[in-house]
Amino acid sequence: MRLAAALLTTLLCIACATAPPEPSSGRHHDQASRAPHGSAPSGEQGYLIVPGSFEPDRGPDGNSLFLDAPDGLILVDTGRHPEHRDRLLAHARRRGRPIAAIVNTHWHLDHSTGNAEIRAAHPGAELYATEAIDGALAGLLLRSREQAETMLAAGDVPPGREAEVRRFLAVMDDPDSLRPTRPVRESADMTIAGRRLRVNVAPHAATEGDIWIFDAATGLLVAGDLVVAEVPFMDTACPEGWRRALDAIAEMPFTTLVPGHGDPMDRADFLAWRAAFGNLLDCAASDAARDLCIAGWRRDAARFQRPGREAMIDRITGYHIDARLRSAPEERARYCE
Ligand SMILES: [Zn+2]
Repeated sequence: MRLAAALLTTLLCIACATAPPEPSSGRHHDQASRAPHGSAPSGEQGYLIVPGSFEPDRGPDGNSLFLDAPDGLILVDTGRHPEHRDRLLAHARRRGRPIAAIVNTHWHLDHSTGNAEIRAAHPGAELYATEAIDGALAGLLLRSREQAETMLAAGDVPPGREAEVRRFLAVMDDPDSLRPTRPVRESADMTIAGRRLRVNVAPHAATEGDIWIFDAATGLLVAGDLVVAEVPFMDTACPEGWRRALDAIAEMPFTTLVPGHGDPMDRADFLAWRAAFGNLLDCAASDAARDLCIAGWRRDAARFQRPGREAMIDRITGYHIDARLRSAPEERARYCE
């Protein structure tokens, strides 16, 4: 069972975040509980955030964001779970507008699992993403699929997670739902669904190719998982490329930044988060004790962490120190080239 637990951990990491499942199910607060209707209207700015979820013992959903555009709605990221997808579809119905374009900030399945069903309901929606998905499908996702099938066959998937694992396998049966119809290969000003946006590509950061968006008209910046409020998800990270991406984001004159997970940030929040991230990388690169680096993250990023989640955050931070920041050089290089 120990082996099964390890495999499950890996499988869930794909997804992507994250570390070992929580041993006990303590009380926790997810974003949805703070935004009971699963959406936070932002009115005049012309965008709306549908908060994701990040709970113990369950794969997370990334935040989604709707932008109004002349030709319809632009949807940034489509979540993982059916409940999240339903909120996205309900918002488009309420607005009475088609989803004209989907942007995946990166291929992790907590941001892209909903693609197929959203596009089934909105067949005109183009998919903007980098082609990093191709490497993932040939590597990490392929291995994860084999592990998932093995575990299901052996009865090693806990009953509470079986639906999630089967949903993962359904996406693997439909890999084209993750592939862009409009590949984004370099940073550029783009017109998406008739709306002008600065679309930036960060190579070798949280994944092999991440997208982040800056809208000069509103001062909005959509960071994807280059910013994850409580703790960065480094499963497929090149830490130094990630650090460069954060520096590029800091150059932009944004007023509100929407992270991949967690609440929107103002500039001061983001700069604090970037400093915490840099400190974690520096600590891991030094001779400092592992526990000191974990405690450093929790201190530096305390303002982004919800009460009662300390043990989980420490576990995730420690996992990424071991698996990514202090792993063998060839393992560290794997996501940087
Ligand atoms: Zn994510």
